Amino acid sequence: MNVHKIAVPTPFEIGDVNVYLLQDEGCLTLVDTGTNSREGERVLEQGLAEVGVRVEDLSQIVLTHFHADHAGLLERLVQRSGAKVYAHPLTHDLILPTEQGLQKRADFFDEIYLRMGLVDEVRRGKIVAEIKGYQDDMGRAGVDVALHEGDKLPGHDKWRVIYTPGHSQDHLSLYREADGMMVLGDHLLQNISSNAFIEPPARDGDERPKTLMIYREALRKVYAMEWSVGLPGHFEEIREYRELIDKRFASQEKRAAKVVEQVKAGKRTGYEICAALFPKVMNHLPLVMSETLGQLDWMTAEGKITRELNEQGVWVFR
Ligand SMILES: [Zn+2]
Repeated sequence: MNVHKIAVPTPFEIGDVNVYLLQDEGCLTLVDTGTNSREGERVLEQGLAEVGVRVEDLSQIVLTHFHADHAGLLERLVQRSGAKVYAHPLTHDLILPTEQGLQKRADFFDEIYLRMGLVDEVRRGKIVAEIKGYQDDMGRAGVDVALHEGDKLPGHDKWRVIYTPGHSQDHLSLYREADGMMVLGDHLLQNISSNAFIEPPARDGDERPKTLMIYREALRKVYAMEWSVGLPGHFEEIREYRELIDKRFASQEKRAAKVVEQVKAGKRTGYEICAALFPKVMNHLPLVMSETLGQLDWMTAEGKITRELNEQGVWVFR
């Protein structure tokens, strides 16, 4: 019934990623893997060794979501342990896309960045290449078994799967009702707000997911649940979760008001609004554009602003 945390270094700005070892009778499950690096693998090995476990002993790996800091070392760990991999139904194709799938993803982002007002094809091409480049750090192993909302985690009867989309569309959390423990991935973090990243629709022809609105819904879901401690993918454990979620809601609402203000002040494109909101971090375009588009989707859905498509293929907000 033990849960053991291992903080694994990543090359990313966020710092360490926390992976968790779930130990139950006859089953050793690692939740997330850390990044694909020698250093990460070494620290993970050390952390496991502290509780007398080797990588080779792992029976299962559960991924909270597909991002490289959580799933990057998947291929190595599967090679070494033969562990069965569990994740959301969307995760497999996000980690191991076909060439065609990858191209579709690139086309989607190219179109979104045009809609947001980046009419310069060269600049757009650079951003899309950057997003496409994330794929190099991915886990590169398949998912064996899909997990769905409400599933019991195989081998760990007391743990239940909670679907918590928003930060990514394949995001899962794990909940143990007996003692209120919640493994959170990046659904809620103590030190920073989780970004609800822009994602293409899961299936062709589906509507683009309105990720910030989806994220807020999933935050409300865990808010309503009773937990004693949250074990997040980064930073320290979370105890005052309702307070923290209220804080996240308040800052989202404050930012939404700012977006409406900017539109009222005459900013017309997503890019202009983004630059007004985040003048200092425009070098992190995928991050801040996700934030901005999330707010624009939300305020459009609320009827606070309107959106039209102009002849250049750019959304115009009023
Ligand atoms: Zn993430």
